[in-house]
Amino acid sequence: MKIVLLGAPGAGKGTQATRIAEKYGIVHISTGDIFRKNLKEGTPVGLKAKAYIDKGQLVPDEVTCEIVETRLKESDCEKGFMLDGFPRNVMQAEALDKMSDIDLVLNIAVDLDKLMARLTGRRVCKECGESYHISTLQSAKCAKCGGEIIQRADDTEETVGKRLGVYTEQTQPLIDYYSKKGLLKSVDGMKDIDDVFAEVVKVLDGISGRA
Ligand code: AMP
Repeated sequence: MKIVLLGAPGAGKGTQATRIAEKYGIVHISTGDIFRKNLKEGTPVGLKAKAYIDKGQLVPDEVTCEIVETRLKESDCEKGFMLDGFPRNVMQAEALDKMSDIDLVLNIAVDLDKLMARLTGRRVCKECGESYHISTLQSAKCAKCGGEIIQRADDTEETVGKRLGVYTEQTQPLIDYYSKKGLLKSVDGMKDIDDVFAEVVKVLDGISGRA
């Protein structure tokens, strides 16, 4: 199963991706996570990406596409993979067309007006990336791994505003791009996490026999 998860920042791609990876045993590739790991380790890619991430802009396509191309060549991707946060614009989608045949693009559809509150209230585990919301947060430590819970530097109001603008201008056109190719399926991302996942499973079970 080779799938792409599409959705605005804060649509719940990461949360659904973790569950999909657990249930279907497919590799989860998040370009945002790859950049954050490189940033933490101070690698050349991390240093290059930092300025863009801090401003809520997209890291240049050459850098991003090369990372994905290299990752998809690793042996664990042979049986399938799930891309989360890539492609983010039409140029990246065209590059992906040359790298692999995608079975399905799953769009997590959300009301853009609600995302500011979701994202500025988001807190994540510094160690494992598990996502929480400040309104329901029970502890300063991650329930999964005990790691410290922090706010992502790009989840501030100013940067979120820019990221949502980038999404509308550059990523949203991919809905049309994949719809025309007959690859797009949408689920309602405004429901609660379990209900969204139930919809996701219905869609994926529908294709898993043939993908
Ligand atoms: P995310 O965790 O997916 O919200 O990504 C965080 C940040 O990483 C984005 O705001 C971008 O600066 C960068 N990033 C992640 N994926 C991509 C991509 N496919 N193309 C360009 N930049 C990306």
